[in-house]
Amino acid sequence: MPRAVFIDRDGVVCRNREDYVKSWEEFHFLPGALDALARLAQTDLRIVVVTNQSAINRGIVPAEVVESIHARMVSAIEANGGRVDGVFYCPHRPDEGCSCRKPRPGLLLRAAEQLALDLEGSYLVGDAESDMRAGRAVGCRRFLVLTGRGRRQLLRCLIHGERGFAVVPDLQAAVGRILRLERQRRTVPLEETVGC
Ligand SMILES: [Mg+2]
Ligand SMILES: [Zn+2]
Repeated sequence: MPRAVFIDRDGVVCRNREDYVKSWEEFHFLPGALDALARLAQTDLRIVVVTNQSAINRGIVPAEVVESIHARMVSAIEANGGRVDGVFYCPHRPDEGCSCRKPRPGLLLRAAEQLALDLEGSYLVGDAESDMRAGRAVGCRRFLVLTGRGRRQLLRCLIHGERGFAVVPDLQAAVGRILRLERQRRTVPLEETVGC
């Protein structure tokens, strides 16, 4: 079963905006994000963007605009040698009580179903407590980046006792760690063979 790297969008791939990313003009890749995604594309891990976009049901951004932003985001990532295997978004407001808005794991479960993913062998990279909670719910190995809302959200995690994730400066660092873990994963069986 394929494994995945789930990546939050705002604050991880692109600059976070308090007033939401409402157009392609407001979408700015964070430094190093495109290169990190290109490095990740060299693995057999599925690359899946999972993002809360409540601006849709708040009536701030039409769903079609969010989808066109995603299409352009994916094109830019591909033009830089990267790849995206899926983009899953939650359009709901918090008061709607849906099952897909992070911290709920609905987006991860939907992606796992559509792409037949092994969730426990998967990774998640986010800049918020809600990302860490969603990832924990399905057993992913988690990375909190300090870009976007990361610093304040790290504090929230500490206050709420959310733990068990690694803290890294940005997506590039998270990908570096993931690539190292993947290399270890490949070499361990060999070492075991040598051992017996
Ligand atoms: Mg975020
Ligand atoms: Zn939702």
